[in-house]
Amino acid sequence: MSAILSSTLSSAPPAHGFSQLNPEQWAAVAHGDGPLLLVAGAGTGKTGTLAARVARLVGDGADPQRLLLLTFSRRAAHELSHRCGLLLQQVLGLPVSTRPPALPWAGTFHAIAARLLREWAQPLGLAPGFTVLDRGDAEDLMAHTRAGLGQAEWPQRFPMAPTCLAIHSQRVNRDRPLPEVLAAAFPWCAPWAAELQQLFDAYADAKQRQHLLDLDDLLLYWATAMEEPAVAQALAARFDHVLVDEYQDTNRLQAHILQRLKPDGCGLTVVGDDDQSIYSFRAAEPGNLLDFAQQHGGTTRVLSLTQNYRATPALLAASNALMDEVPERHPKRLWSAAADGPRPRVVTVADEAAQARWVADEVLRQREEGLRLKRQAVLFRTGSHSTLLELELARRQIPFVKYGGLKFMAATHVKDLLAVLRWAHNPANTLAAQRCALLVAGLGPGSARRLVQALQGAAEPAAVLQAFVPPPSARAEWPALRTLWLALHQGALPWPAAFDAALAWYTPQLQRLHDDAAVRLADLQQLRQVAHAQPSGERFLAELSIDPPQASSDESGAPHRDEDYLVLSTMHSAKGQEWSAVHVLNLVDGCMPADLATGDAAQIDEERRLLYVAMTRARRQLNLLAPQRFHVSQQARWGDRHLYASLSRFLTPAVLACCEQVAGPGPAEAALGADLPSGLLDLAARVRARGC
Ligand code: ATP
Ligand code: MG
Repeated sequence: MSAILSSTLSSAPPAHGFSQLNPEQWAAVAHGDGPLLLVAGAGTGKTGTLAARVARLVGDGADPQRLLLLTFSRRAAHELSHRCGLLLQQVLGLPVSTRPPALPWAGTFHAIAARLLREWAQPLGLAPGFTVLDRGDAEDLMAHTRAGLGQAEWPQRFPMAPTCLAIHSQRVNRDRPLPEVLAAAFPWCAPWAAELQQLFDAYADAKQRQHLLDLDDLLLYWATAMEEPAVAQALAARFDHVLVDEYQDTNRLQAHILQRLKPDGCGLTVVGDDDQSIYSFRAAEPGNLLDFAQQHGGTTRVLSLTQNYRATPALLAASNALMDEVPERHPKRLWSAAADGPRPRVVTVADEAAQARWVADEVLRQREEGLRLKRQAVLFRTGSHSTLLELELARRQIPFVKYGGLKFMAATHVKDLLAVLRWAHNPANTLAAQRCALLVAGLGPGSARRLVQALQGAAEPAAVLQAFVPPPSARAEWPALRTLWLALHQGALPWPAAFDAALAWYTPQLQRLHDDAAVRLADLQQLRQVAHAQPSGERFLAELSIDPPQASSDESGAPHRDEDYLVLSTMHSAKGQEWSAVHVLNLVDGCMPADLATGDAAQIDEERRLLYVAMTRARRQLNLLAPQRFHVSQQARWGDRHLYASLSRFLTPAVLACCEQVAGPGPAEAALGADLPSGLLDLAARVRARGC
């Protein structure tokens, strides 16, 4: 260990574990305890450097329990821990059979917030059994509250529940007064400021009554708790080092939390890339990255990396050209020493169906050439853009997994099963109680309401359940739910047996309520796998609400873990990932940039950064697809079922000059009759022969 310590003083990385690092990366890894900001472009090894820094710190004696590692998604936290583990194995010279020390505090801001709030529930005045609401549940509660205030009956224009929740979320995460948020992001709702405030107050009351925290509350509560000096000091003393990846996408609350956690920046490391800031719709503030050095005094060390290790020079030229178009940007030219490869291709295809066929052909062609499906990805702006491709892949039995854009948690059956667990965990959660009661055969809304009313504020919820008299139609079915609830609530079943018991009770309800029960059961089996991987029901429920499984298996059968499958992903969910070959769909205006964004220059810039994120995921091959026309069903009554699309405005002459332009096949209809010999008949002559 002392060898590692002394080597941190030299400029060249030591041999074991870190030999791959370049001198700039090593400077960040070896940096001491002062605040450190690493700003660098895509694929320069930021995340790898962060992992190496963690390994270096642990190698030098830091306690892994006292490292807080904050990432953007659970998947990223998992990968970072994995990379740290591999490095630590080498650094500590552990035999392969020995597990490296775990990093128990690696996670997203939200997941860490949930753990801290629960651990410290007592001093913070929270119910330790609070439930974390996912977005869908929060939307339901907002809708319920809105209806309770009579706002649902108001004529025209009062924002719908999802919009109300979005406004509320911006209000919390931007940490700005409501009128300011409305003026900036929801100007059409500005006249409703007073009514919205009334709604948000009632929403907050409902959450408090039922011991519920929505996702935004997790950050809000954490940030607010940190305003109390005793809490801030206790937490600061709990962690020696705090390291944050993708810092460009943090919001104001997250920056406040870090500021209070490490006011002098000592032990704080953040890495990010302002060119990849793509979450302003979730109140991310790229200014956090740019202001970091200022916020943490003159001692901040700012380091940069310029060598890209991911992409070939040909691919890098195109992504550099894309970002060169941005005015007032800090110029950041990346270079690559990798052997060159093919230029990116801009492939023009007739329509979306032709696009789906082209991509499926290309994916299979690449696989024939030895590139496994897992090393290829198809990226798109919005989840719905891949629908035709999904059908094409299913038809050809090409397995795939889709990330992002899927509403796994919004599915009725997933919500039902989780409601059982949530209600047992937090009896005050009347939203869940009502949902469960309605699942019992023969129990209607009136009886469910009666149960919920009896439960409200009850000191002994178990006694309420015991005493509840169901209507005669539910007399046979009710006891099973009651028994299950009591067993779960009283902790009679260890985890994950508790999950299995809930699933066993729910399965017959599912079969009774849904025609497609088999498909839905497959989802619940997937959920079961997640449940079995978690140490407790509490962690399972919190993690799931915060960072739900985004992946859903394809229609051609769920691929097993070790099986080969193609990755389909929204551009947002592709952040931080890489593949050898990347195919990007719908490079046309209206899709990229999305039509919603076209009015606003700042949004257009963010869309361009999103394309930059997509293009920089590729290591060797990049195909940018541009369908010439789109099927638009709403237009049918005008007799015009297709719209002609223009190439994305981001593919400027400078970008195109870095690409090869390819014409894909025409539409499927063009091929009709192609297999008949030409001159088979003289149709006009035949018609004449009929005497017409
Ligand atoms: P992004 O901006 O997309 O988040 P990043 O800057 O975090 O990217 P990494 O994901 O850490 O970059 O690394 C990108 C690729 O470069 C990975 O395949 C990684 O293994 C490789 N890489 C990074 N540094 C080096 C190095 N010094 N030598 C060889 N390969 C490296
Ligand atoms: Mg990264």
